[in-house]
Amino acid sequence: MIRQATVMNDRINIAIDGPAGAGKSTVARLVANQLTYIYVDTGSMYRAVTWFMTRLGIGPELPDKVLEYARNMVIELRPDTDGQKVWVDGEDVTPYIRTSEVNGLVSQYAQIEGLRSHLVFLQRQMALNKGVVMDGRDIGTTVLPDAKVKIFLTASVKERALRRFNEMNDADRTSLEQLEQDIAKRDTLDEQREISPLRCADDAILMDTTEMDIRQVVNKIVSICRSQKDGERIT
Ligand code: C5P
Repeated sequence: MIRQATVMNDRINIAIDGPAGAGKSTVARLVANQLTYIYVDTGSMYRAVTWFMTRLGIGPELPDKVLEYARNMVIELRPDTDGQKVWVDGEDVTPYIRTSEVNGLVSQYAQIEGLRSHLVFLQRQMALNKGVVMDGRDIGTTVLPDAKVKIFLTASVKERALRRFNEMNDADRTSLEQLEQDIAKRDTLDEQREISPLRCADDAILMDTTEMDIRQVVNKIVSICRSQKDGERIT
């Protein structure tokens, strides 16, 4: 009789999508902490590419050049006590990727088809062993369509702008009205782009967090995840 060793792997992948300022990264990081999973912030990858290209003076209107350079970038997401640090070619670029310049440009680079395919490939590699909480815009629809739990987090534009405003330090702070306009503009670009637009996957759970605090959102997602665990056999 041949006996086959089996390992129970009950880890699952969790996709958290939604528009800017919906609280995805905070929520995803806390859910990952509670489940001792790996947190992957895919927006930071689009941001790192945007920062890198602006530094080189390669605009989003030059998609072939963007892709050529992006393919040679070494992007690393390193877990950190504050969430995640982003390194490019051995340099910690975390402080540079959330500036208003990057905020204003990132959705334009994110429309480049070849760049999306390249980053989606890298993101899928990160999730191969499961146990990942990944946040972004197209995780449930494109990057991890088989994710066991898919959440689409949203909140009113006003509430999202207010959350971003409160997170900003004094040096970067713009007016609340400006922030609301910027977020609405980014939403439109993300929702209307041809490739992998921001949308709620058919099998995702839609959570409007306008009236919820972070703890409530995290607890709800963790309990959904615990009740959904895989039990898949790896032989
Ligand atoms: O999540 P965050 O706001 O950091 O994302 C920045 C931008 O990166 C988004 O507005 C979107 O244009 C792009 N993005 C994307 N697909 C993802 C994650 C982010 O297009 N999976």
